[in-house]
Amino acid sequence: MDIANPSEEHLMLREMVRDFVKEHVEPQALEYDRDEKFNVDLFRSLGEMGLLGITASEEHGGAGLDAIAATIVHEELSASDPGFALAYLAHSMLFVNNLEFNGNEEQRARILPKVCSGEWIGAMAMSEPDAGTDVLGLSSTATQNPDGSWKLNGRKMWITNGCIDDDGTPADIVWVYAKTGIDEKGRAQISTFLVEKGMQGYSVGQKIIDKTGMRASNTAELVFEDCIIPKSNLVGEVGDSMSHMMRNLEIERLTLAAMSLGIARRSLDEMNRYATDREAFGKQIRDFGQMQRYIGESWAKYRAMRAYIYDTANNIGLGNSGQRLDSDGVKLFATTAAKEIADAAMQVMGGYGYVAEYVVERLWRDSKLLEIGGGTIESHQKNITRDLSKAPDAVNR
Ligand SMILES: Cc1cc2nc3c(=O)[nH]c(=O)nc-3n(C[C@H](O)[C@H](O)[C@H](O)COP(=O)(O)OP(=O)(O)OC[C@H]3O[C@@H](n4cnc5c(N)ncnc54)[C@H](O)[C@@H]3O)c2cc1C
Repeated sequence: MDIANPSEEHLMLREMVRDFVKEHVEPQALEYDRDEKFNVDLFRSLGEMGLLGITASEEHGGAGLDAIAATIVHEELSASDPGFALAYLAHSMLFVNNLEFNGNEEQRARILPKVCSGEWIGAMAMSEPDAGTDVLGLSSTATQNPDGSWKLNGRKMWITNGCIDDDGTPADIVWVYAKTGIDEKGRAQISTFLVEKGMQGYSVGQKIIDKTGMRASNTAELVFEDCIIPKSNLVGEVGDSMSHMMRNLEIERLTLAAMSLGIARRSLDEMNRYATDREAFGKQIRDFGQMQRYIGESWAKYRAMRAYIYDTANNIGLGNSGQRLDSDGVKLFATTAAKEIADAAMQVMGGYGYVAEYVVERLWRDSKLLEIGGGTIESHQKNITRDLSKAPDAVNR
């Protein structure tokens, strides 16, 4: 049994995305990374293929597929262009999947068709200049007006797809977390709002440039200044954000791990071919024991990542919570493994590995972000340890 392609439908999806990547993603990856540009046209073409709403319901323009399908798409895109894959993840997982499982029917019917087709580009804004891991420390604040609408003030930082070009054009729609009060235990009460382009007081503060990696995705600071949000754009009830975050976090971390898998697979492929082609001292470099250590260990790590990631994808329910042990576990393991495999590839390829034309240099830079974004590796260590103290039986399952 192949847990990465458990059905004919999954295999066909993988082949379709792989063909698309070869023909359209790979040829532009180097240029868009070098120029720090987001390829909007290419992104919208994913909508025509039904990929932008991969997990959204078919009645609202989505593909209605499962977590395995989402994992496949992220792995395949990332094997060529992790930066582009990150923009895809921010849209299809952080926005679309979130809306599918946490929005109400009116919001789904109104917004999903636009984001599934690619007419609108979505983003999710949680992080702030002074709060990342410490979610409850965020300071963006929304207060309700007498007419029921909301007034949002604050700044969001590091928002993927926050702007779509270099002219300050903001994302068409952003899933924004903001403080709406203090609960009975004195903790921040967080609520979720849908902010649309054109709403008064919503703008791009800056496009963040000179990133180490993921340069083919745009990262922005967003500004909300007395931004007026209609009542109909509050998601769920006031104070519901923690449940939204918990529900969406698992698929987010799984697909970030899938991106790491794509990076690992491509790095391994590149180093393996190079080790055959390159000769030194009259031998293929794959005959040297030290090179064998890089290749052998990378293979074992790659296979372990693949097994753990697809095992988790086969067991995770979209829109559920309760699988954080494994969604954090796969991301913790896979992100560092991918970085190590990209590093091994660069070492095997010597000077050629260090320049952009040979791809692994870009994968190496891109891999680092996955240890930070969507939760740092330290936050996964903390969550796993906490969850295992609550459910020690998980170890002997
Ligand atoms: C390219 C890029 C894209 C991003 N895209 C998005 C996006 O689309 N939407 C969004 O909302 N955010 C996004 N982020 C933000 C990202 O999720 C945060 O950077 C991440 O959550 C870490 O937050 P921070 O940067 O504020 O670091 P901090 O939380 O300040 O952490 C700094 C260091 O302290 C450690 N630390 C913090 N608390 C603890 C603790 N309790 N125990 C041990 N160590 C701790 C961290 O692990 C880390 O090593 C993006 C970031 C980048 C760089």
